[in-house]
Amino acid sequence: MTALYRQLPSVDKLLKTPQGEVLIDEFGHTAVVNICRKLIEQGRQSIQKNNQLPQYFTEIDRTFAEIKQQLNKQRQVNIQAVHNLTGTVLHTNLGRALWAKSAQQAAFAAMRGNVALEYDLVEGQRSHRDNYISDLITEITGAEAACVVNNNAAAVLLMLATFAKGKEVIISRGELIEIGGAFRIPDIMAQAGCTLMEVGTTNRTHLKDYRSAINENTAFLMKVHSSNYQICGFTSAVEEAELVALGQEFGIPVISDLGSGALIDLSQYHLPKEPTVQEKLAQGVDLISFSGDKLLGGVQAGIIVGKKALIEQLQAHPLKRVLRCDKAILAGLEATLRLYLQPEKLAERLPTLHLLTQSIDILHLKAERLKAQLEKSLKDEFSLQIEASSAQIGSGSQPMAKIPSVAVTLAETRGKLTALLARFKSLSIPVIGRVEQGKIWLDLRSVADVELLLATLEEL
Ligand SMILES: *Cc1c(COP(=O)(O)O)cnc(C)c1O
Repeated sequence: MTALYRQLPSVDKLLKTPQGEVLIDEFGHTAVVNICRKLIEQGRQSIQKNNQLPQYFTEIDRTFAEIKQQLNKQRQVNIQAVHNLTGTVLHTNLGRALWAKSAQQAAFAAMRGNVALEYDLVEGQRSHRDNYISDLITEITGAEAACVVNNNAAAVLLMLATFAKGKEVIISRGELIEIGGAFRIPDIMAQAGCTLMEVGTTNRTHLKDYRSAINENTAFLMKVHSSNYQICGFTSAVEEAELVALGQEFGIPVISDLGSGALIDLSQYHLPKEPTVQEKLAQGVDLISFSGDKLLGGVQAGIIVGKKALIEQLQAHPLKRVLRCDKAILAGLEATLRLYLQPEKLAERLPTLHLLTQSIDILHLKAERLKAQLEKSLKDEFSLQIEASSAQIGSGSQPMAKIPSVAVTLAETRGKLTALLARFKSLSIPVIGRVEQGKIWLDLRSVADVELLLATLEEL
């Protein structure tokens, strides 16, 4: 045993070899020393427990190969690219919307250097970081003004904290939603210091329910888009327009958390209709909040649009400073919004809309290529088929609405599916599908880059 311990190198000895010097040159002294110490400690433990040296201490070349591998691993980013074949186009766990080319370029330019973020180039003086976005949103939606924060959850918090702290907010019981990632309307209300006044019942709420809950301490009438569920059957909800009329009677603003918040009518593409921001504005809602990375197809952000006087108060609240967006995000958002100024080109340029509007024929062609590629390595073990599939928008848009799609399915009889899923996940760009009816479904609707997918699958 002592003989084995004596075979362990010292840190000093490792550093002083030519190979050690090369590594120090590339990675610096601190990191190389840390890894050497770690490996030597592992070596001691291996001797103590198993009475043997680890493989990498049996030869000096192996030792340095191991050190170098660990140093390289330190630089590897764990938030890595994946291929989304789940069929859910806006997948929150996979990072939601893909950025348009122009948004990537704008963000990259903003990252690399200084930008006129809060600087008016014409007047040569300080300006506000939301100005560019606000002007664009005003042009696209007709809203009086806009405010941008970190995400829609932050937008809701800011609206409530600014106007409803210590006051009451009236909301229908059917709209007390929880969405993924622990966003619950009652919890956000508590954080904002306001009191929730629930009215109506889970399935039915009437205008008179709101009316009878109004008192001198009411700050808002609030609507929340029931993003990720639907109440079916004997139901009734009050539309924004009616609430606005009621609010005006008492001088109480109406706010709406729209969730996905489309800026265009999706039914023109034969997609399930989502309420648009413009419709809600036309109904007279005072403040509307929505996400930047859901149907809008852009960056993670929360956008609030509405009456100028109210937006100005939001901008002045200390929480706005806490929740503000950074320059790269704002640049990406501005570039994304600019695409909406040329609506006929949107489906071509906005990746989310492009994916959602691909024809079944196109998806079929892609599925055939995918199937042929998979057959090269898997056809002996699995039965591969092209099947009709149901995709979905995701991120709370129309949870019940299925979008026709095409998938390659993989089935087998000997319990190898789990191993295959693991193989897909261990590729240099992991492939994420879904399991249904005892088969793996690789849905083409949500795939960002088919060429890259096929190239990745060469590794199988
Ligand atoms: C998605 C959603 C949110 C949260 O938006 P984030 O941008 O994820 O913070 C809030 N409300 C509704 C209705 C939503 O659909």
